[in-house]
Amino acid sequence: MIAKTREIANIRKLTNSLPTIRYVDPDYVYLAITNARCAEGESYVKVGDHVKVGQKIGLRKGPFFEQPIHSTVSGEIVGVVKKFHRSGKLTEFIQIKNDKKDTFVETAIERTPEEIAALTKDDFVRITKEMSLVGLGGSSFPTYIKFQTKDPIDTICINAVECEPYLSADHRLVMEFPYRIYNGISYAMQAFQAKRAVICIKKKYQDLYDCLTVAKMRFPNLNVEVKRVGNYYPQGWEIEMIKSGLGIHVPTGVLPAKLGVMVFNVSTIVGLYKAIRYNLPVIKRNFTITGDGINIPQNYRVRIGTSLKEIIDQSGGYKDDTNKVMILGGPMMGANLVRDDAVITKTCTSCIILQEKKEVEEPCVRCASCVYSCPAGLQPVNIMQAVKNNDKDALKGKLNIKACILCGMCAYTCTSKIQLTDYCRKAKKLAQ
Ligand code: SF4
Ligand code: SF4
Repeated sequence: MIAKTREIANIRKLTNSLPTIRYVDPDYVYLAITNARCAEGESYVKVGDHVKVGQKIGLRKGPFFEQPIHSTVSGEIVGVVKKFHRSGKLTEFIQIKNDKKDTFVETAIERTPEEIAALTKDDFVRITKEMSLVGLGGSSFPTYIKFQTKDPIDTICINAVECEPYLSADHRLVMEFPYRIYNGISYAMQAFQAKRAVICIKKKYQDLYDCLTVAKMRFPNLNVEVKRVGNYYPQGWEIEMIKSGLGIHVPTGVLPAKLGVMVFNVSTIVGLYKAIRYNLPVIKRNFTITGDGINIPQNYRVRIGTSLKEIIDQSGGYKDDTNKVMILGGPMMGANLVRDDAVITKTCTSCIILQEKKEVEEPCVRCASCVYSCPAGLQPVNIMQAVKNNDKDALKGKLNIKACILCGMCAYTCTSKIQLTDYCRKAKKLAQ
């Protein structure tokens, strides 16, 4: 068995200080017709149609919401092809040949400061829905639903903690686009009539603190504080971040909004800036490719819909094609990829490529390391046993698998190298 989490402790971050390379003109982009949240979808275009950047070309349909699909290039529709989605499923994608002219759709307009100031909360709901904005830290939760809350919001909390090892896409985003972040925060504060905002970053990143502090000078009337929180994992977990950054304890099962707090990932807040200022969906994002299995670890700014393989090739390819583990997302919560025929979607933050080291699982020695390490206060060893026994009642009841955030800490600390996170995933499915 491959123990992906175990290897990361020995490898330091490779890309934090590397400036972002723009790789924004792929020959083709691929846009998924369905995804993990929307099992159905339809295309509005046919082969040969010419489309523009930001044009609506289809619609994904989920159980309780719909997501417009927008073209991220201007060019010609080639057809529908099957490729791997980040969820690991073979999915239909609309393939578009990029004409590299970047012709924008007519609805992409720059709103004046006066027009923005006149926007109501309902306008924010409408615009973020039309622009298909979702949680870009990986959650993919529709942003318009956050704007629909009826709870009074006092504080906007920006998650720039990026706590999983290896990842640096958000780090570079903050360093390179701090003004977009402050503008996005000002829009969110306006929508909720929030009194203040707090940007949470890791304590150890002095460069982020300095960058945000200097950029803040351009926004003297904005009540925003940069808060340095812990350097540990899972400090970026919403509950843990709110505790460290705001001193507020959010009980399990309670939404932060109920306590007056609304959380946005820092990438999402940049997406909000683009949606409100330019009426544009997410066209590009920061993406990290790293690990000891890739020749040139690097940060990229990529067009949504770019083939992952192209980015791997840009990074000098694999060190050893026959001996590698690929993880899309962070090493703790990301998903193993079985092949590189995948596409970079809005919610892809990174790809980690490690040289494979096989580890053999041993029997549980009842050491309770997994219990002590679980940030949600669960008993992973007993969850594993309940999965083996197919004990759905225990999983739903006293083992409370619903509270598991799939953070990977239990597997990481397990003395016997048991892949406990896999059991947690299975447990969640069993308890549905
Ligand atoms: S994956 Fe779930 S059970 Fe394991 S440590 Fe994280 S929250 Fe706890
Ligand atoms: S950490 Fe591993 S070996 Fe220890 S109790 Fe948990 S499952 Fe068993």
